[in-house]
Amino acid sequence: MRETVYTGCRVFTGNAAAPWGQSVSVLGGRIRAVGSAGDAGTASSPDADVVDLGGRLVVPGFVDAHNHYLATAEALTSVDLRYPGVGSIDDLVDAIAKRAGETPTDCWIRGFGMDYAKYPDARPTRWDLDRATADHPVIAYHVSGHYALVNSAALAQRGIDENAASPPGGEFVRDGDGRLTGLCLDAATNLILPVAVDVGSHGPNFHTEADLADLIGQLDQGGRAYQAAGLTTVCDPQVTSRELRAYREALAAGVLHVRVTCMPLSHGIPDFRAVGLAGPFGSDALRIGGMKFYADGSLIGGTAAFNEPYGEHGEFRGSLYWPPGELSSLVREGHEAGWQIGIHAQGDRAIQMSLDAIGGALGTHPRDDARPRIEHAGYPTPDQIRQMRDLGVITINQPSYLYDSGDEFIVRLGDRAHRLQPIRAELDDGVRVVLSSDAFVASYRPLDTIVAAVERRTMAGTPIGADQALTAAEAILAHTIEAARAVRMDDLVGSIEPGKLADFVVLDGDPFAADRGGLRAVGVHRTVQGGRTVWPAEAAGAPPAARTA
Ligand SMILES: [Zn+2]
Repeated sequence: MRETVYTGCRVFTGNAAAPWGQSVSVLGGRIRAVGSAGDAGTASSPDADVVDLGGRLVVPGFVDAHNHYLATAEALTSVDLRYPGVGSIDDLVDAIAKRAGETPTDCWIRGFGMDYAKYPDARPTRWDLDRATADHPVIAYHVSGHYALVNSAALAQRGIDENAASPPGGEFVRDGDGRLTGLCLDAATNLILPVAVDVGSHGPNFHTEADLADLIGQLDQGGRAYQAAGLTTVCDPQVTSRELRAYREALAAGVLHVRVTCMPLSHGIPDFRAVGLAGPFGSDALRIGGMKFYADGSLIGGTAAFNEPYGEHGEFRGSLYWPPGELSSLVREGHEAGWQIGIHAQGDRAIQMSLDAIGGALGTHPRDDARPRIEHAGYPTPDQIRQMRDLGVITINQPSYLYDSGDEFIVRLGDRAHRLQPIRAELDDGVRVVLSSDAFVASYRPLDTIVAAVERRTMAGTPIGADQALTAAEAILAHTIEAARAVRMDDLVGSIEPGKLADFVVLDGDPFAADRGGLRAVGVHRTVQGGRTVWPAEAAGAPPAARTA
């Protein structure tokens, strides 16, 4: 076992007790020591390999506490419907038609990232998709992941006709004449997709049937993209048997390139209880973590549950997956079984339900260091922020939403848009905050997320809650050690400290010195995971730059 010493660098360790170093020594896949300037003492053996990093900045490997890894990997190989590439109904039709021309008849065509709020024309319907193809069932996922638009062939294949009733927790949208438009909201997506798993009304169902070999190939490709972006650990916040099986098989095949923590969806509670299993359980490569619950829908889609209606015409009040009492008993059941709790909640109405559920569970079954999470935590009121602090709730924020959709939020929410993800107020009140991507919904690149948290600007350049901006250091901590804490892996990853797994990223550029604009240019020079350079590929296979005598 050979030691490697990385030198000629500044190391932002993420360790509050010793925040800066100037060299890192790695042995056996772990950090052996963090040294100061020119510190030959960091090498324990005379034949250690020495890698000079040319004065660059080293930060801990990024941890994404809310990243739908498998879905993102699938999206990377599906039709890309993201804005601005697809900015109108005609663009949407063209993108689907192009793929239809390359796809055997009757095979499903899937697209990800459709963001019709940005189109100049009306909302797309199934009749638009029918123009693209009548020979393939088509499903175009909304960027939020909570909705899907399908064509007439898809409705026919799933046996959904004009008499279909909307299910609890979802809706088949109809036009003025009562006809299905093809737009399926929340739980209605479960009926439209050939799904691999029945999740009931526990969450949106994007767990579609797919060939396992294809999924493993997509995880392989997606994991390499993650490593290139500096991601070394992700937490998939909605796992069913479909995802866990794909991750297990990818691990066995040697192509699960990043560390994965799985949060099973709440429909699985009885099955896990039957075998006595609760997280954290597993290895540093693949483990089961917390349990995921849903309170409301999506901010981008208009189903986030607010106390005061929102929308240009006050048309949205949001929808709930559960009546409040049912969410509380479900969360209590999960907590009592030993699970860390993570609840999706965007609007203040849903956040209050979630806090009541968490408070109720901890009240009847007190547990130290429970680390309950609220996923997204879009619009907590000042009083709710204090409740979060008192309950030890961690907020899992996605500031890239503010960049991607902030312009729509300002139209829909007015002044309230500037209080979305009030991360500064949460920090000031003593709440632990985490930054994450929610990929596939937003960019999986941690540096994009960090820029969004520091800049607090929309895609059009309008400030959105500028007083809630983080410093670069705060943002990096929230995407490394704080994220590791939220996934209960802070004993293993998230900071550069002796004994931890040697996961770190060498940056090109300095986010601490960069001005606005310059920050966006900071890139990843090298990613080291478990002591091995995993990106770029050339460096991964190349001999070390120099060696001591
Ligand atoms: Zn998500």
